[in-house]
Amino acid sequence: MSACFMCPRECGADREAGQIGFCSADNHIRIARYAKHMWEEPFLSGKNGSGTIFFSGCNMQCIFCQNHVISHLHYGKDVTQNELKTIILSLAEQGVHNINLVTPTHYVGYLLPVLTEVKPKVNVPFVYNTGGYEKVETLKKLDGIIDVYLPDYKYSSTTLAGQYSAAPDYPDVAKSALVEMYRQTGKPVFDDDGMLQKGLVIRHLVLPGCRKDSLQVLQDLDSLLPRDGFLLSLMSQYTPEFAKDSEFANLRRKITAFEYNSVLDVAEKMGFLGCRQQRSSSDVGYVPDFQKDTITTQ
Ligand code: SF4
Repeated sequence: MSACFMCPRECGADREAGQIGFCSADNHIRIARYAKHMWEEPFLSGKNGSGTIFFSGCNMQCIFCQNHVISHLHYGKDVTQNELKTIILSLAEQGVHNINLVTPTHYVGYLLPVLTEVKPKVNVPFVYNTGGYEKVETLKKLDGIIDVYLPDYKYSSTTLAGQYSAAPDYPDVAKSALVEMYRQTGKPVFDDDGMLQKGLVIRHLVLPGCRKDSLQVLQDLDSLLPRDGFLLSLMSQYTPEFAKDSEFANLRRKITAFEYNSVLDVAEKMGFLGCRQQRSSSDVGYVPDFQKDTITTQ
């Protein structure tokens, strides 16, 4: 892990020597929370919940991030690889529908031995829940381990990607990543209870003032992948509280019903499969309190 090039930032931090990368991570695995989570898409949370593990830090650092405390401030607790194995097995024993690795990109090198060892012992799908800023080369290492990819496709515009995430190459990088994810999973597969067992679910959060880019996102996805090859989750829960001081005035407000519904209408007319989110969840109360819900490990 010396000179880390694991993600498209390729910042080259010497993490093994304790140097901290753009993602805020060093040579430890840090997690902020693990719990059953009932607020993922219905085909992931079901009746028993998704077994989510929130990793601290992030390689995107979006200026409006709703998980700011863990993604930017790196809040959390370092765990050993053995502790992480125990956490995964304990979530599986609680009967969750899947093991949901949230923002794991910058830890892939450290997670691979853990996931490889626990995979045969866990009979629910492994979900890789990511902002979409991924290297194909790194994703290839997860082939056969990850059952469900749950990436964002945040922007089509290189300008927005540069302004909001300091990643003007995001659209092209994310598109290549989506193609690789689809290559690994194929079309969505559900069990008899409607729970997703394999497949690609692409999330897009409609941002205030960015409706035209959201419409272009739909066009990009339509050109990239077969319509029945993935599920689209169109999200409306943008929370302005985390961009209160932003230089971009549009990010300091919620999205309007018109903004969300107009994108949703086009998505429905284009025939995408997937689900929508109620605007009522666009409230800071839906964001887990990571500082209150302190993690404990045995
Ligand atoms: S994973 Fe982190 S340390 Fe590695 S290249 Fe990406 S931002 Fe840099």
